[in-house]
Amino acid sequence: MSNPSVTITRDAVIDREARHVLQLYRRTPVVFVRGQGVRYVDIDGRSYLDLLSGIGVASMGHAHPVLGDAIADQARTLVHTSNLYFHTLQGDVAERLTALSGLDRVFFCNSGTEAVEAALKFARRYWSSRGETRRTRFVALERGFHGRTFGALSVTAEPHYREPFGPLVPGVSWVPANDVGALDAAVSDRTAAVIVEPIQGEGGVRPLTPAFASALNDVASRTGTLLIADEIQSGLGRTGEAFFSHTIGLRPALVTVGKALGGGVAIGATLVAERIASTIAMGDHGTTYGGNLLACRAARVFLEHLTAPGGLQDNVREVAPVIEAGLQGLARRHPLVAEVRGRGLIWGLELAGEAAPVVSAALARGLVVGATARTVIRLLPPLVITPDEIREGLALLDEALSEVERAETSGHAGGDVSVGH
Ligand SMILES: *Cc1c(COP(=O)(O)O)cnc(C)c1O
Repeated sequence: MSNPSVTITRDAVIDREARHVLQLYRRTPVVFVRGQGVRYVDIDGRSYLDLLSGIGVASMGHAHPVLGDAIADQARTLVHTSNLYFHTLQGDVAERLTALSGLDRVFFCNSGTEAVEAALKFARRYWSSRGETRRTRFVALERGFHGRTFGALSVTAEPHYREPFGPLVPGVSWVPANDVGALDAAVSDRTAAVIVEPIQGEGGVRPLTPAFASALNDVASRTGTLLIADEIQSGLGRTGEAFFSHTIGLRPALVTVGKALGGGVAIGATLVAERIASTIAMGDHGTTYGGNLLACRAARVFLEHLTAPGGLQDNVREVAPVIEAGLQGLARRHPLVAEVRGRGLIWGLELAGEAAPVVSAALARGLVVGATARTVIRLLPPLVITPDEIREGLALLDEALSEVERAETSGHAGGDVSVGH
C-alpha cells in the first residue's frame, strides 16, 4: 500500500502546514509516520518511546494487530449508516459500558467534548421535564477541563480558553477541588448539576479525595443536584479500575467517556442513570456520526481487551507499582521535581519550573511525554506498556531532568526544541 508520508521531508510537511492549516497548536517539530506498540517512528526513521499515547487515546498502543484487523474488516464491510437505522454494534458496546459503570443507558457521540455537551444538556432536560425550569445552573471545579465547545467551555476553568469567546453559558459557579465548604456554599436549589473530573487531567493530574467524593454524594442526595463525572481521561482502565469514581466512592448519575474508548478511532459516550434517561424524549438530541459501525467496532475490541483476564486493566494494576516507584525515585534524585501525583498509568510530575524544556530534552532522547498546566510533566502511557518499557522511559526522563537542571544552574534556560541532531 502506498504511504504518501514517505515521499515528503519533515521540513516540507511543516512548511505546508504553516501555509494552509489554521494555526492553533504549538506543535513539536516532529512528524510521526508509523507506530508499533509503545513506539513511534518518525519521517527520518528515528524511533521514540511513547509515554503519552496521543493524550490517553492509543490505549492499546499503536498499530495493535487485533484492533487494526477489526478496523480494516469493518471498513471493508460497513462504516456508517446514520442513526436512522439499527446496526449490530451499538447495543453490544452499550451493554458493555453499562455493565462497567452500573449506569443504565448510553448516548454515543464522536469526542469527549460532545459527551460533555450531551451530559450538560441531559441535566438541563431532566429538570425541565420535571417542570423545574429555574434549575439551570452548573457548579464546576477550578482547574477543571471539559472541552472547547460553548457548553463544555462554560464549565472549563482556564480563563485564557474562555475569555475571548464570551458570553458563555451563564450561571456557572466555581469551587476549588477538594474544598467541601466551598462546594456546600456553591450548590443551591437552582443547581442543575455539578461536573467534576475524578482526576483532573489537563489541570495537572490532581485526584479528588474520597472525602470530597463523599461530600459530592451528600450534596446530591440533599439537594437533588445531578453529579456528572467526566471520566474521559481518568476512566476505562487508566487507573487500573474501570472508573476512578468507583475508587473514591463517587456515585455520579452521568458519566462521560472518550479518549481510550476507540483506541484511536474517534468515539465518545455519555452514560446516564435510568431516572435521567426516562426524562429525555425522542429527538431531544442527536448526531449524524455518533455510534457508527467503525467506531463501535473499535470500542468493542478495546472493551473486550480491557476486562479480559490478563487484559489491559490487569496490566495497569501490575505495572502501576513499577512506574510509581520509578517516579518517586526521580523525585528523590531531582530537585526540579517538587511532587508526584497520580494512579495506575496517569501521572503528573509537578516541577519547580517550566515543564516545556524537560519535554524537549526528553524528545531529543527519543522519549515522548507531555506538559500540562505549565509546570507539570504528564505521563499517560499506552495501557499495554511492560515494566521494561517503563524502566527504559524513566531512565530517559531521568537524563532529561538532569540536563535541564544542569542548564538551569549554568544559566541557560533551555526550551529550544531540537530533535535527533
Ligand atoms: C480530553 C478531555 C475532554 C475533551 O475531549 P475531546 O475528545 O478532546 O473532545 C474533556 N474532558 C476531559 C476530562 C478530557 O481529558
